[in-house]
Amino acid sequence: MRALISVSDKTGIVELARTLHGLGVSLISTGGTAKLLADQGLPVTEVAEVTAFPEMLDGRVKTLHPKVHGGLLARRDVPEHMAALKAHGIDTIDLLIVNLYPFEATVAKAGCTLADAIENIDIGGPAMVRSAAKNWKDVGVVTDASQYAAVVAELKAAGKLSDKLRFELSVAAFNRIAQYDGAISDYLSSVKFEEDKLGETYVPERALFPGQSNGHFIKVQDLRYGENSHQQAALYRDLYPAPGSLVTGVQLQGKELSYNNIADADAAWECVKSFDAPACVIVKHANPCGVAVGASALEAYSKAFQTDPTSAFGGIIAFNRPVDKAAAEAVSKQFVEVLMAPDFSAEALDIFKAKVNVRLMKIALPTGGKTDWEQGRNAIESKRVGSGLLLQTADNHELTLADLKVVTVKQPTPEELQDLMFAWKVAKFVKSNAIVFCKNGMTMGVGAGQMSRLDSARIASIKAEHAQLSLQGTAVASDAFFPFRDGLDVVVDAGATCVIQPGGSMRDQEVIDAANERGVVMVYSGVRHFRH
Ligand code: 5GP
Repeated sequence: MRALISVSDKTGIVELARTLHGLGVSLISTGGTAKLLADQGLPVTEVAEVTAFPEMLDGRVKTLHPKVHGGLLARRDVPEHMAALKAHGIDTIDLLIVNLYPFEATVAKAGCTLADAIENIDIGGPAMVRSAAKNWKDVGVVTDASQYAAVVAELKAAGKLSDKLRFELSVAAFNRIAQYDGAISDYLSSVKFEEDKLGETYVPERALFPGQSNGHFIKVQDLRYGENSHQQAALYRDLYPAPGSLVTGVQLQGKELSYNNIADADAAWECVKSFDAPACVIVKHANPCGVAVGASALEAYSKAFQTDPTSAFGGIIAFNRPVDKAAAEAVSKQFVEVLMAPDFSAEALDIFKAKVNVRLMKIALPTGGKTDWEQGRNAIESKRVGSGLLLQTADNHELTLADLKVVTVKQPTPEELQDLMFAWKVAKFVKSNAIVFCKNGMTMGVGAGQMSRLDSARIASIKAEHAQLSLQGTAVASDAFFPFRDGLDVVVDAGATCVIQPGGSMRDQEVIDAANERGVVMVYSGVRHFRH
């Protein structure tokens, strides 16, 4: 058996080559890889010797030769193929181990020049991978270090690879090539071409939405079903997931996540991530039904739960702090579908061991420090419409105190300002029309997803009544402007004393006059947070 090894990422390659050599496999290799193996005392023949042709053009041409591709592509069961090999002095290659020039990593680096990117487009590697993958019946093709162990195990057990493994390796190889070409096409189609700057040091400006898009997503898993049991579904993740995003998490226990679990978990996680203080978010059907900050995870949870204990049943709960024993004991008293946190203490894990159905997700919080390009790339939201696709940058606007404009005679107290900022943060994660009553860092009533703002306001106060919470002295956020004074009157009647809204309605003056007449504070955020 003959193996050709040509890898850019040389992790684990010496060990693999040593094992192959031990199993009697003869080794051929390209310049850099051959040198590494030879330095480790392994007998290896350089490809240049096999082809009787030097590697040339800075490595652009190394393996593009009939002695390589003939050896990979010849069908062993077709006598004419084997005769042709013999006539031209070509030996078969039965195992190909290749990983490609690091194009993706190169273009992900800040300041990557066009020349760097182009030089990192592998030509001979993908060509060999395609040859071997096409001829999977006779050739095994290894394109990732994660496959080394399975290949070694079969070679050790049977002296050859099974049809099943060769086929799986072939599929994985074509997937890898599709991804690789997708990354190249994405990068090049995002480049804003400037003719007068095309030197070696040219770092092109790149468009957020590339002209082409493929190879972007990697399948994580098939899901049991979609939103309903008659729908099929699967989860994919970005090729480069944003740090701290849901798909970077690991499930520690519990049943498999469902489609709805994942959608709700994402809503809860994105919301809880937006707070600096210890926070807890409880989500049902994509809407927060309780959000709070507190001195500890336990306090945040207890407050969030109080907002709407009825809806919290079967909720999806997220923390932005590790779940300790106290928080775990409290949460474990309610029926919970999914629980997310950056970490769980050993005692907390013990408590949930008894609740085998609770899905525990450990997700690291984002650490920051990424370039704008990388962040932007992972911050695009999509929605299918008919046979089209709507894309937009995510709603990442963060309000600061300096952005606020007080429009009423009455000025907010520092406590009111805090509650207004908290309410505004929550409203961003509530489906429109959103009305959110808050006090002392907790939601007191959430009105979500109604077709009229007035109804959202009414529902929020009805929910507070059901939870036996008083809305006296609360702060209210409205995700978009009040088109008439009636919405404002409903929230003030319910007990609110200060209101935050974007402003910008034709009848702004009517609403400001109403706020002054009712003696409440109103501030404008200047931005809207529709969420559909
Ligand atoms: P080495 O470090 O062994 O010199 O090079 C290994 C890398 O070269 C691998 O990533 C492989 O995909 C790539 N490679 C192999 N043959 C060719 C070729 O003919 N042209 C180019 N551009 N790259 C090749």
